[in-house]
Amino acid sequence: MGQMDRLIIAIDGPSGSGKSTLARLLSERLGYLYLDTGAMYRAAALGARKAGIDIDDNQALAKFCSELDICFMVEEGAVKTLLKGEDVSEEIREPEMGMLASAISARPPVREKMVELQRRMGERGGVVLEGRDIGTVVFPRADLKFYLDASLAERAQRRGKELSEKGKKVELKEVMEEIKERDHKDRSRDLAPLKKADEAIVIDSTDKGIQEVLEEMLGYLIQK
Ligand code: C5P
Repeated sequence: MGQMDRLIIAIDGPSGSGKSTLARLLSERLGYLYLDTGAMYRAAALGARKAGIDIDDNQALAKFCSELDICFMVEEGAVKTLLKGEDVSEEIREPEMGMLASAISARPPVREKMVELQRRMGERGGVVLEGRDIGTVVFPRADLKFYLDASLAERAQRRGKELSEKGKKVELKEVMEEIKERDHKDRSRDLAPLKKADEAIVIDSTDKGIQEVLEEMLGYLIQK
């Protein structure tokens, strides 16, 4: 693959569109770093809750962000999210953390800090980043941009399955409502709203399996 070894690949899209799974598989296939930026916002939300920060208090939030310590670690092949050195990978997956992450991610000091961290982690290339604003804000000059989408029903189904596999009892209707509300918030916020970058390749995964989408992405990569 020669010249392909240091590309920056952006994958954006709404929740449950398959971004995480595909970003992970793609990074494994290419031997790239995988950056789950949603996990960073989730970890920030958890940290703020633990510290009792009022997210509408700009000053308190800015101070909290300046001291925020989030990093990733690979353990037995799995990527772990660390907050102040503590493994919070499980805790940040709770559905309520998604909502809290969505709320805190709309706040300027938080986005500023995250974008800075993400650019620093990705600038050398050889990285797949997934989120909401990677192709539009974090790396507008990414080598390859994907926008993954799927119908709301399909995304809710996937998220519900994921949660029930982890032993969590969930109502499909509730999962759907949660996703719908979070997507609406993410799409309509002032700062870095979820939207397709102009040059992004749109892949609708509603009726496609993971392998099929992965092959499709690799196909675009080979054309590069
Ligand atoms: O992708 P995930 O569902 O883990 O993201 C949680 C929340 O973090 C999203 O709903 C969104 O509000 C926020 N987020 C963001 N920008 C990113 C990634 C996630 O605002 N690049």
